[in-house]
Amino acid sequence: MPDAWLASYPGVREREPLAPLSWYGIGGRARFFLELADDGPLPELVARLNTERQPYRVIGAASNTLFAAEELAGLTIKLVNRRLSIDGGKISVTAGYLMPKLAAEAARAGRAGLEFAAGVPGSVGGSVVGNAGAFGGEVQDCLSRVEAIDPQGRRHTLTAAECGFDYRDSSFKSARAGWVILLATFRTTDDTPAQVRARLLDVQKHRRATQPIEQRSLGSTFKNPPGDSAGRLIEASGLKGFRIGGAQVSPKHANFIVNLGEASADDVLALMAEMRNRVFERFGIELEPEIRVIGRAPAA
Ligand SMILES: Cc1cc2nc3c(=O)[nH]c(=O)nc-3n(C[C@H](O)[C@H](O)[C@H](O)COP(=O)(O)OP(=O)(O)OC[C@H]3O[C@@H](n4cnc5c(N)ncnc54)[C@H](O)[C@@H]3O)c2cc1C
Repeated sequence: MPDAWLASYPGVREREPLAPLSWYGIGGRARFFLELADDGPLPELVARLNTERQPYRVIGAASNTLFAAEELAGLTIKLVNRRLSIDGGKISVTAGYLMPKLAAEAARAGRAGLEFAAGVPGSVGGSVVGNAGAFGGEVQDCLSRVEAIDPQGRRHTLTAAECGFDYRDSSFKSARAGWVILLATFRTTDDTPAQVRARLLDVQKHRRATQPIEQRSLGSTFKNPPGDSAGRLIEASGLKGFRIGGAQVSPKHANFIVNLGEASADDVLALMAEMRNRVFERFGIELEPEIRVIGRAPAA
């Protein structure tokens, strides 16, 4: 068996249910699954996965990922390495660290610039990949450098300019697919803890007012097209509250698809297709998915 080594790799579990790991509560199983609190074994492991031609992917909080396969082939690695260190104006965090916690720790230390991270419920690794942003701030504004390994397991340190950031995009989605982010260092500026905390609370208040955060979702389903907002276009297409199976266009924010309880990946993909079709018919604009769909192509 070509994957016998994976089955016996320390800590690997077989046929792990993915729904409990996903913010959406949707997912089949991972053929092989490994949770890593220490990224030490990763260079050798990733190199071997590539040599053996085994598919793999790393996930963080899965707050941007729809698991759409009944069984996800190869190895799914969940990174939960969670270390943070502050050195003057620089804050370094491992990829599995959660963004809201990063925002809170920065505020506690009186370091400004990461308040937006309070609005992004994912990990640092996933947020670098997607150049996550909220309420006026995004990763590329304050990222100083990233430590990552390539598919051969070699370590690299990249500057923000080398990460190819764009709107909800980076080279880790394309030219550097298969790389694994281990650590990110952010630049911050001096402020008082009280002032930073006040701005952070503002971000949280704004989120509560505008987003259905009490329901399961993946945040914004589609990217905003240039000069417009996907939510506005979807709402103007009459889809607010529209439902397929257990998936619903949120009545609070039309760019969020919420899981009413029993939504399947098929429900979400069918609803995404309907949203794209209706917006295209009405406005001639093609919406581009912001969420990542693993295991199947997003609906066209
Ligand atoms: C209620 C809600 C609100 C949200 N609001 C926002 C918002 O305001 N702004 C925003 O930008 N996003 C928002 N999101 C989406 C999501 O939180 C962000 O995209 C977040 O950055 C994803 O991080 P994650 O750890 O969950 O990534 P995951 O979903 O786990 O992964 C995302 C992608 O990154 C890859 N990846 C993850 N970790 C690594 C790593 N260490 N190395 C290499 N690749 C990796 C995965 O393979 C996948 O392709 C929201 C989501 C929810 C549920």
